Amino acid sequence: MTVAFLGLGNMGGLMAANLLRAGEKVVGYDPVVTEAEVPLAESAAAAVSGADVVITMLPSGRHVLDVYREIVPLAEPGTVFLDCSTIDVADARAAAELASAAGHLAVDAPVSGGVVGAQAAKLTFMVGGAAEAFAAAEPLLRHMGARQVHCGDSGAGQAAKICNNMLLGISMIGVSEAFALGQRLGLDDQVLFDVASTASGQCWSLTTNCPVPGPVPASPANRGYTGGFASGLMLKDLLLAQAAADAHGVPTSLGRHAAELYAAFVEQDGPGRDFSAIVTSLREETS
Ligand code: NAD
Repeated sequence: MTVAFLGLGNMGGLMAANLLRAGEKVVGYDPVVTEAEVPLAESAAAAVSGADVVITMLPSGRHVLDVYREIVPLAEPGTVFLDCSTIDVADARAAAELASAAGHLAVDAPVSGGVVGAQAAKLTFMVGGAAEAFAAAEPLLRHMGARQVHCGDSGAGQAAKICNNMLLGISMIGVSEAFALGQRLGLDDQVLFDVASTASGQCWSLTTNCPVPGPVPASPANRGYTGGFASGLMLKDLLLAQAAADAHGVPTSLGRHAAELYAAFVEQDGPGRDFSAIVTSLREETS
């Protein structure tokens, strides 16, 4: 199997390296990457030449559609197109249609698990596409992840991803507000954690990615909010969820408010720190 891997950033570089380690032939391309674990081609077109599978891990839907318009006509009919980027549901469907119309198989397969999951090949893939396309993609996904969930037809993987991340953004703000209020009421962070983590308030944002330093030693809060899931990426996912909610007339008032709070936080703090750092703005407001 020859795999063209386009987009060797924080996630793609690690995912491509795992494919190589699993014994696949991988050719990578990224306009800003000059050194990588996988052999590099000089252009997307050169990487795609002779490939059985094309994997993209790019920043946005615009990037994915631009790349697909360039390379879909160059690929041999029957090539498997696998887009792992987090993008708009409509863009994912448009990309898959471009590939299908040229006689290829296509899936959207966004991931959960971040850089740590990518490094350890423990990602969860949420996959949208026809059963035949999922079956063709699954063996490769297994080299990069621990779970591959077939969510439905084209776009269903992106739909699952943005619903999950809207819930995650809301829950992180909820946990952060609880710590802000608890602090103001004189509660020790550890005491509030001990209660909520074993009571009805428990959730991933509290028990795994706890936004205050101390209770969960591995959470980004203990290392200056570095090395986690960036606030800018959370904002992007919340905006994708709102665009989808608007397009389908679904009232998601908490999702909308979460997007507004993250937009204000990213404006003030920048896009780089872990999304749990939002607690620092909420605590400042109450102290
Ligand atoms: P990144 O910005 O580090 O990497 C994206 C790469 O794409 C960059 O290196 C860029 O140069 C490259 N690129 C842009 N245009 C290209 C083109 N035409 N051809 C080839 N490469 C091109 O981003 P990332 O953190 O690796 O995230 C990639 C995607 O995965 C995003 O959609 C993001 O939302 C999603 N995601 C990221 C995480 C995370 O924790 N970082 C977690 C889950 C999902």
